[in-house]
Amino acid sequence: MAFFVAWCLIYRMAVRILDVGEEHADYLHDESRRVGRAERIAFPETTEEVVEVLQVASENHWPVTVQGGRTGITGGCVPEGGLILNVSHMKAIGHLDGDRMTLQPGALLADIRSSIEGSGWFFPSDLTETTASIGGMVANNASGARSFKYGAVRNWIHALDVVLPSGEIVQVERGVHRANGRCFRLGAVGGRLQAHLRKCAWVKSAAGYYVEPDMDLVDLFIGAEGTLGVVTGITIQLLPKPEQLIGLTAFYASESEALRFVRFLREGGVAPPTAIEFFDSHALGLLRRMKAENPAFAGLPELAPEFHTAIYFEFECEVPDAVAEASASALECWFSEGEHEIVALKNFRHAIPESVNMIIAERKKTLPGLTKLGTDMSVPDERMEDVMQMYHEGLAEAGLDYVIFGHIGNNHVHVNILPRSKEEYERGRALYLDWAKQVVEWGGSVSAEHGIGKNKTDFLKLMVGQEGIRAMRELKRLFDPAGMLNPGNLFDG
Ligand SMILES: Cc1cc2nc3c(=O)[nH]c(=O)nc-3n(C[C@H](O)[C@H](O)[C@H](O)COP(=O)(O)OP(=O)(O)OC[C@H]3O[C@@H](n4cnc5c(N)ncnc54)[C@H](O)[C@@H]3O)c2cc1C
Repeated sequence: MAFFVAWCLIYRMAVRILDVGEEHADYLHDESRRVGRAERIAFPETTEEVVEVLQVASENHWPVTVQGGRTGITGGCVPEGGLILNVSHMKAIGHLDGDRMTLQPGALLADIRSSIEGSGWFFPSDLTETTASIGGMVANNASGARSFKYGAVRNWIHALDVVLPSGEIVQVERGVHRANGRCFRLGAVGGRLQAHLRKCAWVKSAAGYYVEPDMDLVDLFIGAEGTLGVVTGITIQLLPKPEQLIGLTAFYASESEALRFVRFLREGGVAPPTAIEFFDSHALGLLRRMKAENPAFAGLPELAPEFHTAIYFEFECEVPDAVAEASASALECWFSEGEHEIVALKNFRHAIPESVNMIIAERKKTLPGLTKLGTDMSVPDERMEDVMQMYHEGLAEAGLDYVIFGHIGNNHVHVNILPRSKEEYERGRALYLDWAKQVVEWGGSVSAEHGIGKNKTDFLKLMVGQEGIRAMRELKRLFDPAGMLNPGNLFDG
């Protein structure tokens, strides 16, 4: 430690770089339960301090891993040696400026929401996990239930301040800083954006870099998983808050009936809902079990044994008559109105991944190699029923325990496999790889919202091919020739 104190003095550093000790154990993993290692950690508070940290890391050839809220589920913020640059002390939330607001990257979604409560504005990004930081959301191009109407967070980011691996600070504003065809320049960095990566522009996707001719350069950093620069300032775009918000949960006796209702909501000529979410019979079973066995889940609503599948959907207007009529075929339909009642329903939704994470954490005590096996793939509209059939049949054949839930409106559900042994874990991984091949063949994406991180690099390779990975590496090299920032994310090494 004395070495670092002396060193900070030499460099006149405002920010301290600490040795990683036992007290930093939590900073070595994310919610995927992947566990890494690091020798040093820093908690900068300003953009200038981020610059200092990157300069010291560069001079010492330390790899740097950026961390926000550590709620990621792909190992993206899990270090593989070197220095952790944790932005959780950069959480200032600026004042409203018309329909925009400027934030530091560590500001949490829950705090952003509370800060605009009662202002008449709202931020459409709607992750289930509200302790995610805005920097992490930008880095992953995160989405959520309401992305059915509002799209991913990319749509609500107006401008970014980014510290490049060289220590240079760049500011990129939508509509102002753009590529010229496929050529771009940002500060000292410039080059060509190759036509290589957007293999599935027609489905929801957060896999790999976003590249388009004449693109807004702010989009280069959104979804780049911290591989091109550290985001230190974010200007978000807000929308007038809808006057009405109605959430409904329809319970069906079978999955096929529930999927027919999803098709009706999407294609029945009615005003489109804001969100369409899905819970399979295993997810409802898990909620029943958690309510019965764990006092922390005692507040969950009672679910009748005949409820097989549930669809949650949301309207920002009166429920259209045709939807009310169509939902009459459900066994039961719960109605909730206003933000307060809807938050209670969201807790119900959040309880599923939370329970899965608890189960994995428990099983990891006896099976240390275990990580969460959760899919995040999307397919084109016409493949919705096919992909559900593929998941159920594969899992039944493999004899694995699982739950399925998520954003069925975008044909994007999360299959969470719950392995009970190392052998089941391997079987689950093999199955996941087979699914990914099929999804890519159907024109889908291997990651719709969680990103690739370190856990899904094989899948990105599958989707964009060797040529795509080579082109991605070239883009990364333009910004980060030494490969210092977030090594291991998107592609190995
Ligand atoms: C229960 C649960 C529910 C979830 N629900 C959703 C959901 O509905 N939708 C969804 O999209 N995701 C969801 N997630 C996943 C997760 O919340 C998101 O991926 C989120 O965007 C991660 O943000 P974070 O701040 O925790 O980032 P971290 O986990 O800390 O980091 C994620 C990635 O971003 C990079 N990063 C972080 N901060 C910066 C920065 N300032 N500059 C550059 N790079 C940075 C990291 O290096 C890493 O690669 C859920 C997770 C859990 C546990």
